[in-house]
Amino acid sequence: MPKKKDTCSFCGRDSSEVRLLISGINGFICEDCAQQAYTIAQEHLVGDVKKKKTGGLNWEELPKPTEIKAFLDQYVIGQDDAKRYISVAVYNHYKRLGQDISDDGVEIEKSNVIMVGPTGTGKTLIARSIARLLKVPFTIVDATVFTEAGYVGEDVESILTRLLQVADYDVKATQRGIVFIDEIDKIARKSDNPSITRDVSGEGVQQGLLKLLEGSVVNVPPKGGRKHPDQDYVHVDTHNILFICGGAFDGIEDKIAKRLNTHVVGYNSVQNVARIDRKNLMKYIQPQDLKAFGLIPEIIGRLPVLTHLEPLDRQALRAILTEPKNSIIRQQEKLFAMDGITLRFEDDALEYIVDKAIEFKLGARGLRSIVESIMIAPQYEMPSSGEKEFIVTRDFAIQQIEKANLAA
Ligand code: ADP
Repeated sequence: MPKKKDTCSFCGRDSSEVRLLISGINGFICEDCAQQAYTIAQEHLVGDVKKKKTGGLNWEELPKPTEIKAFLDQYVIGQDDAKRYISVAVYNHYKRLGQDISDDGVEIEKSNVIMVGPTGTGKTLIARSIARLLKVPFTIVDATVFTEAGYVGEDVESILTRLLQVADYDVKATQRGIVFIDEIDKIARKSDNPSITRDVSGEGVQQGLLKLLEGSVVNVPPKGGRKHPDQDYVHVDTHNILFICGGAFDGIEDKIAKRLNTHVVGYNSVQNVARIDRKNLMKYIQPQDLKAFGLIPEIIGRLPVLTHLEPLDRQALRAILTEPKNSIIRQQEKLFAMDGITLRFEDDALEYIVDKAIEFKLGARGLRSIVESIMIAPQYEMPSSGEKEFIVTRDFAIQQIEKANLAA
């Protein structure tokens, strides 16, 4: 029982000033301080739980979809639709990780994403940029290695080996990760009608992949492949792993056009035909077009978020050269700056580079190789030249490209 002279070890008030003074081994605590301590402990613990559930991020720290998109804008030019879809998908992924089903019985289901768009338009770039932002394990795999599964290719489960490795073999972290599967179109069945051709490899891989997308417990060889047959499998539950798929789906425009045409006939056709932007059919893509292309309906059902990337036009290519945070031109400038040399590209030299990229039909992929061809000579000579500035003019660019073409 506290005596009159006893005081609260936290606020210093004595027993006459408080209603309750609880004694411990070496001190006392009054009812007010106990109350405060409880509140502080509560905040701390709940904060910790939330932090764990959202995959290492605090709710307050979680970037909102608009912030995720703004982050992507720094690296990826255009492609607003795809960036918006991905931002929401990633945000929802974190929400799923933090959800408490016992509250109301409502379970937020996983929304895997599929991005369709021509090669070199930024699908992988979006995925890579997202990875910079994320605090969950992330990996990029190429679906082409699975085409001949069972023969020379890898088993679909090896996707998870990669994720497991990225997560330092932490199974819990792996189960919250994100996987980008590139070239998903390469595992499409060759025909829409399964009875005409038996395209076992394509469909077999899709069935294998389906298991992962739906969410199941998978036996994963921790070291991957068949080189280590004696390894013990790790069980990984894929329910909470977010899958983002990408593919060029070459020729899918024909399927879209076909569908649009058959639709417009039945409707008020003249009006609808007038509204269709025939140059860019991709923006009308629907799940049934993926089916027509050869993805099995079960897979399409497991990729409910479908978005497309636009082909890159002149203006976009020009912007890609200089605007992204680590644009090709900025990288060149940095290389020269390390030798104390100021590098500058004249505007019409940049225009020429864009012209060439369009001519080579390589999309944004071409930009880099063209710039490299132009810059190889100055990169070789300038560091020992003692000069402090180098200006790339249009004439210089033309000269270097022509030289490179001759050499080729
Ligand atoms: P894919 O759509 O085939 O996955 P990538 O994302 O790999 O294409 O793009 C290839 C390269 O082209 C990237 O490394 C990047 O430098 C550039 N690139 C492509 N699209 C864009 C874009 N929208 N914004 C900025 N750079 C881009």
